Amino acid sequence: MNTKVCTKCGRELPLSEYKKRKHGLSFYCKECIKLYPVEDYNFRRRTTDLHRKELMKKYYEVNKDKILTKKRISISDLHDSYIKGRLAQKIGCSCRDVPVGLIEFQRAILATKRELKQYKTI
Ligand SMILES: [Zn+2]
Repeated sequence: MNTKVCTKCGRELPLSEYKKRKHGLSFYCKECIKLYPVEDYNFRRRTTDLHRKELMKKYYEVNKDKILTKKRISISDLHDSYIKGRLAQKIGCSCRDVPVGLIEFQRAILATKRELKQYKTI
């Protein structure tokens, strides 16, 4: 009879003790999947995250020129109400309650952040 070693518990078990997956059988035996469902879920989530990162990297490589030359609105052209909205979100109050003096301050922060991004290597 065909057997397979479970990567979790290390036992050699008959193939009937493994759940069928899209591509062959699962790595863990049925018993281990029952015992470690959360761990299995996290493992799958982690791998898809890695996959997503990989895809983003590829997208960046292909569209590098497009991304880098993309026109951005200069900070000084940003509307006050937009900055107010961002401040309100940060402070956790409504747009009306944002002190007017903070708008220019936030504008300076945004400009600094954008400037710093240029030195960041990807
Ligand atoms: Zn097992």
